[in-house]
Amino acid sequence: MSKQIPFVDYLALEPEPHLVANECTSCGARFFDRRNACASCFATEFAKVPLSTEGELRSFTIVAFAAPGVDVPFVAGIIDCDGTTVRGNVVNTEPDAEHVQLGMKLKLTTVPIGEDTAGTTAVLNAANEIGVEAFLNRQIRFDQIHAVNLETLGQISTAPPQTLEDLLELDKISRGAASQVVRRIGI
Ligand SMILES: [Zn+2]
Repeated sequence: MSKQIPFVDYLALEPEPHLVANECTSCGARFFDRRNACASCFATEFAKVPLSTEGELRSFTIVAFAAPGVDVPFVAGIIDCDGTTVRGNVVNTEPDAEHVQLGMKLKLTTVPIGEDTAGTTAVLNAANEIGVEAFLNRQIRFDQIHAVNLETLGQISTAPPQTLEDLLELDKISRGAASQVVRRIGI
């Protein structure tokens, strides 16, 4: 079996897969990205905290358009894990509105991503997060999320990432490109 690298840096694989948040030691706000100061209280001390591997679906979009090699449709969700908001794909269920419902209980799982499509999937994942967030912030319309995905994918050439550093770099570049698309097409 080839070496596993976590798809996002807040996923820990050992001993069992779980997510790890950075928690502000002053106010308890939780973040998944690395930041220098808390967005809520501006304190600068953080502690790593493991999250519950179970949660409830709070919001979702069914992503119907993607690049070749990425299986669609898939479900991008926002999940409440014991009070912490987590983004992730909803899997192991039919990706339609009949089977995916707000409030449904979810459990964290991990899926292997093929080495040849890992780059494309990383770009799409990052673009979709930016798109969904922009939609939730009313910066773009719901039907523009897939335009953000497609345009970002079109802009970035993807060699398969070999290391976590490669993956994080690709994620960063993709987020930047997707944010630019949002600014350009935003309402
Ligand atoms: Zn804080």
